Amino acid sequence: MVRKRILVTGGAGFLGSHLCDRLIEDGHDVLAVDNYFTGRRDNIAHLIGEPGFEALRHDVCFPLHVEVDEIYNLACPASPVHYQFDPVQTTKTSVMGAINMLGLARRTRARVLQASTSEVYGDPTSHPQAEDYHGNVNPIGPRACYDEGKRCAETLFFDYRRQHALRVKVVRIFNTYGPRMHPDDGRVVSNFIVQALQGRDITIHGDGRQTRAFCYVDDLVDGLVRMMASPEAVTGPINLGNPVEIPVRDLADHIVAMTGSRSRLVFRPLPVDDPVQRCPDIRRARETLGWEPRIVLAEGLARTITYFDRLLTAHAPAPRK
Ligand code: NAD
Ligand code: UDP
Repeated sequence: MVRKRILVTGGAGFLGSHLCDRLIEDGHDVLAVDNYFTGRRDNIAHLIGEPGFEALRHDVCFPLHVEVDEIYNLACPASPVHYQFDPVQTTKTSVMGAINMLGLARRTRARVLQASTSEVYGDPTSHPQAEDYHGNVNPIGPRACYDEGKRCAETLFFDYRRQHALRVKVVRIFNTYGPRMHPDDGRVVSNFIVQALQGRDITIHGDGRQTRAFCYVDDLVDGLVRMMASPEAVTGPINLGNPVEIPVRDLADHIVAMTGSRSRLVFRPLPVDDPVQRCPDIRRARETLGWEPRIVLAEGLARTITYFDRLLTAHAPAPRK
């Protein structure tokens, strides 16, 4: 194994922190860069003091001067609630973050991987979504800051490759869940689990018939590492996700059953531009990377429920004497 110097932007976030764990386990030197907008020091606290690990507070909208062999560009809020909080900053993070990381890759001749998203397909009219589908994104809606920011980042990656012969990799990540999601992250799996464990109402948007396909974080991280290690000609885009599609309402039922919760299901308005259906076609990932998810939803949910149960118990107010 060749020991590499690897930069992970968004390294204190949900996916980024798991990726740092994996890269440290594999024996690399890892620099986690984060502005802590949605990420937490707690996610990487166990790595501080680990030989080979370093953390740096930095906003990817500004240039970064470090020496690296590989860059995983994950910095960007991923939950609709958080990316819509400051939409201008979201677009800047994707676009200027991509420009700065590509500039760094150009100077250091590093390989650079972009964490793109299934959101580039928008509210898809083609199902399941394959990489050659160009998407159906509303460019002026509330999700556009994220969707169009990520689409522009992809454009930049391929233009830098064509113009400067950079070694680029683009993966389109579909809904991924697991331990270390923030309890207030706002995405559906963490929301439903936290609500179920606290006996609060489970908030289903719309009638809950919209579908998603959920990938467990360890599988996803394995896909990222395989993509980075793939031959130079493999640039992507490649979908990474679990192709088992379920309606949001069924997800709520599973979580209620698994937690033994007495929570009620309540129905809230469907957010504007919320995609009706989403499921990855992962043939390209299977063929090119030999990758496919291994952890089924029941197993991944069980691990995630255990994580949140411990977290919420540890932070519960002390009982009155
Ligand atoms: P997350 O919100 O937990 O992590 C994002 C991290 O980026 C956080 O630590 C945040 O503080 C950091 N960040 C945000 N703006 C920054 C900036 N300007 N400079 C430096 N750091 C910044 O989300 P996540 O689920 O871990 O997502 C990681 C990446 O994967 C994102 O790029 C996201 O778009 C992509 N992705 C995730 C999913 C998913 O389901 N988890 C799906 C598709 C794409
Ligand atoms: N959702 C929901 N209740 C919640 C949070 C989300 O019903 O408390 C729905 C959301 O409207 C969407 C789906 O669950 O239809 C997945 O939402 P999430 O924010 O996790 O990710 P998205 O795929 O929309 O980016």
